[in-house]
Amino acid sequence: MTIDNSNQPDTSEQPVADEQSRQSRHKQRQQKLQQQVQQGIAKATTEKGLLLVITGNGKGKSTSGFGTVARAVGHGLTAAVVQFIKGSWECGERNLLQQHQVEFAVMATGFTWDTQDKAADIAAAERVWARAEQLLADPAIDLVLLDELTYMVSYHYIELERVVRAIQQRPASQHVVITGRACHRTLLAMADTVSEVQAVKHAFDAGIKAQRGIDW
Ligand code: ATP
Ligand code: MG
Repeated sequence: MTIDNSNQPDTSEQPVADEQSRQSRHKQRQQKLQQQVQQGIAKATTEKGLLLVITGNGKGKSTSGFGTVARAVGHGLTAAVVQFIKGSWECGERNLLQQHQVEFAVMATGFTWDTQDKAADIAAAERVWARAEQLLADPAIDLVLLDELTYMVSYHYIELERVVRAIQQRPASQHVVITGRACHRTLLAMADTVSEVQAVKHAFDAGIKAQRGIDW
């Protein structure tokens, strides 16, 4: 017996047509997106030294700052790192970046809850800030990372006005990255780019100790 299919719709071409229409919708969306991106790029014409702040309670502030230093050095820019609080223990980034002519000025006191000596901490902060001021006045330095600077301001170890002045008066093309929790609102307002790293979870809370190469 022969089956008469003559008045049934022919569906054999349907999946091909669906795929073509999906492709075409995708193409339209991507073209629109491309236009928006290109308009954004066309508008962004200013060249200037940026102030970046990486703050928040999550892990990734200092590593982001050091990532920026590595990126800059990789392009042949000159960079310097000023480490507040830290420097009394080994630091993977320092081991690496010092081999690439990156100067490190370190406070090397360790955490305030370990030193428990306010006068000595303030003297160390003053000493390292004095070097930071010189770096922030040096047009030969393209990027200065001020790692954990926020605590120096919140503990009043370094006057906010001095920090503001040094950053405002720096060479026009010099970039600065500030890291640390609870950044002062004046510095946030001055910054061109602010990122807040949010703590979703941290291995430390599960009793895992700081791991070499990941945490320091
Ligand atoms: P990293 O240097 O890993 O980028 P960070 O700069 O964001 O961290 P800091 O507040 O400077 O964070 O903390 C320094 C050390 O504390 C690092 O070893 C880091 O892994 C750890 N740490 C960061 N965030 C947390 C957290 N939410 N809980 C516990 N430990 C943390
Ligand atoms: Mg840090």
